Amino acid sequence: MTNAPRPIHKLAEALENGWAAYRARGEFDVFVEFVVLLNGLAEQLHKRHLPGLVRHCQELENTALTLFAEPGMHPVPLDQALSIERKLAVILDGLRQQDAPPSQGGRRCDARQGTPPKVRGQRRLLMISQAGSEPARALAERLEFFGFQTEQAAWNTLFSPEDEAPLAAVFIPDVEGRAYPPDAIKAIVKLRSVFPGTYIYCLGVPLNLQSIILLQRAGADTCLAAGRSSCDLISHVLDLIGRNEQDAYRVLIVEDSATATAHVRRALEQHTIDSHAINDPRQLLEAAAQYRPDVILMDMYMPFCTGVEATSALRQVPEYRALPVIYLSSETDIAQQVEALRLGGDQFLTKPANPIILASVVKTKIERYREMLYTSQHDSLTGLLNHLASKTQVERMALDAPGTELLAVAMLDIDRFKSINDTYGHPVGDQVIRSLGWLLRGRLRSSDLIGRYGGEEFIVALPGVTAEQAFRVLDQVRDDFSRLPHAHAAGVLTATFSCGVAVWGAHDTGASLIAAADDALLEAKRSGRNRVMVSGQVARELLSAPADAVA
Ligand code: GH3
Ligand code: MG
Ligand code: MG
Ligand code: MG
Repeated sequence: MTNAPRPIHKLAEALENGWAAYRARGEFDVFVEFVVLLNGLAEQLHKRHLPGLVRHCQELENTALTLFAEPGMHPVPLDQALSIERKLAVILDGLRQQDAPPSQGGRRCDARQGTPPKVRGQRRLLMISQAGSEPARALAERLEFFGFQTEQAAWNTLFSPEDEAPLAAVFIPDVEGRAYPPDAIKAIVKLRSVFPGTYIYCLGVPLNLQSIILLQRAGADTCLAAGRSSCDLISHVLDLIGRNEQDAYRVLIVEDSATATAHVRRALEQHTIDSHAINDPRQLLEAAAQYRPDVILMDMYMPFCTGVEATSALRQVPEYRALPVIYLSSETDIAQQVEALRLGGDQFLTKPANPIILASVVKTKIERYREMLYTSQHDSLTGLLNHLASKTQVERMALDAPGTELLAVAMLDIDRFKSINDTYGHPVGDQVIRSLGWLLRGRLRSSDLIGRYGGEEFIVALPGVTAEQAFRVLDQVRDDFSRLPHAHAAGVLTATFSCGVAVWGAHDTGASLIAAADDALLEAKRSGRNRVMVSGQVARELLSAPADAVA
């Protein structure tokens, strides 16, 4: 049982082996397995926001589906096999590009070294415009500020598939709100074919259907309308990184029959869905707490209790009230099924379930559930964790801390924010809050927690980090934020924040870490604002250290 998403090269390997097996044996069943793998891969790539590769997978899947009609026609004729192989090669190349080694550069802070770390291909953006475009330069500067590495290119720049694929390509027209010139359209088509996995944005798109359809056909994934496109772009690409690093789907199977369990696990495995099985419903609560599933597949009849009883017991625990439960049973009596659903299940599947239907029902349920969890745990203005979710997760990180020994928690509060609101109005205040959220998301690691604790207050938790390292990173963010211009009707303003840091050790629960960080924040406010203060004893040690130790 693993929680990490499967690396892309594993998916490529599985697909390549699947096809090799079919070419060696030429059997219909092996062909079906290959198509199932392909279908699972398309889903996986979709989740990772690699729409170009998804498109290639779906195209190949459609070709393969036309060969499904007659089992008797396998092995397929050589010309068709070769045509499949060509399409497969494009997909495999695209997958390997995604695993290309990281490149150098960027301004993202690394808490461990306090120096700009290597920026993964994951954060590289290609900015494509007319040579020397001013809007493109300005946008690139803003994106660099928020932790991305950018590279400028012109409409006619030639890229090669050997180049490392960027996370995204951003097309920036000279004039906003006008139809894209033919050169630009050609550039999109070319880029799409060279980097099938790269996300393509078109900015300043006029709001008319013809323009949007034309760009989509060329290969654009997201068209951002003229006007607000640069703000929308920043929050969009920050979301892209977050979702690229999403966990694998997790399914808990509660089933007493070993054969049924093996059948279900195989179907899920083929769709790259992680699973964990228990054969005794009495282990349900422990397994759910440890494995944290996104969905439960529940057998109806087991020793000790029925699936319906186990589900209603599970529903007694507030955390699991909304967790989807799908019943698996040979039950065909409609009245019993209705009763089972009434008592807390979400869906009924008859055993043995068709593997494709099983996987697609599971995926749909998981996607809805995760969407629901996401909305309930995130703040709509900044996209960060909300108050309750951040508190809960800090508590969890504090519980894990004894294993790693290091955890720093910081509270940040924007200085004299009330006067920003009073002078420039609430919408400008909102934009200042949003920018600090972006800066934190762009600069901290994906393993760090970032939450909006209240109005203009933020919380961050940095695992594996000492007080000194936390101080260095946050002080850098503080310094950068103080220089970030925020636009208002009559020009620009700048804002600052104060910050308090506490580390695990002296405080060993989430609540005490937060309280200590809050005290240090108050101290930072009292002693003049626009500064980072470290709590208690650690602070005294830091202050007595030579200046270059914390510089
Ligand atoms: P200090 O330096 O001591 O932190 O002073 P301050 O003015 O920042 O502190 P105070 O807590 O008095 O003011 C916070 C203000 O933030 C008050 C509230 O109206 C405003 N606020 C809270 N949430 C939001 C929001 O979502 N948007 C905007 N624009 N303002 C908000
Ligand atoms: Mg059973
Ligand atoms: Mg405040
Ligand atoms: Mg404040």
